[in-house]
Amino acid sequence: MILFDHKGGRKNITYARYLMSVKLGRFLEPGEHVCHVDRDIKNCALDNLVIMSPQENAGRKKGETMKDFVCPVCGKEFQLAARHSHRVNPACSRQCGRRKGLAKQRARKLMAMRMGK
Ligand SMILES: [Zn+2]
Repeated sequence: MILFDHKGGRKNITYARYLMSVKLGRFLEPGEHVCHVDRDIKNCALDNLVIMSPQENAGRKKGETMKDFVCPVCGKEFQLAARHSHRVNPACSRQCGRRKGLAKQRARKLMAMRMGK
């Protein structure tokens, strides 16, 4: 579905996203995915639509159970598919994962320097 704004720009969004924006009275953030509760994409009744994060949405599609985690980098609460829960201190996003990796590298370097002295 294509929306036109007053500046002549256009936005291509799904009907489900459009309905959810109308329900909420605002535009949806890129990180907000609209899902169909009964998984029937033709059922766009307002009470059949919920907002989910892309991770939740992806996990739900595969019928996975989600577990709650707290990001060790930014402290944000997030959900991850249970099959990933063996990971130690998973980060909420790629950005945080990278920051976590960098912090580890720095710690290792620091250790190596101390050991060398
Ligand atoms: Zn984080």
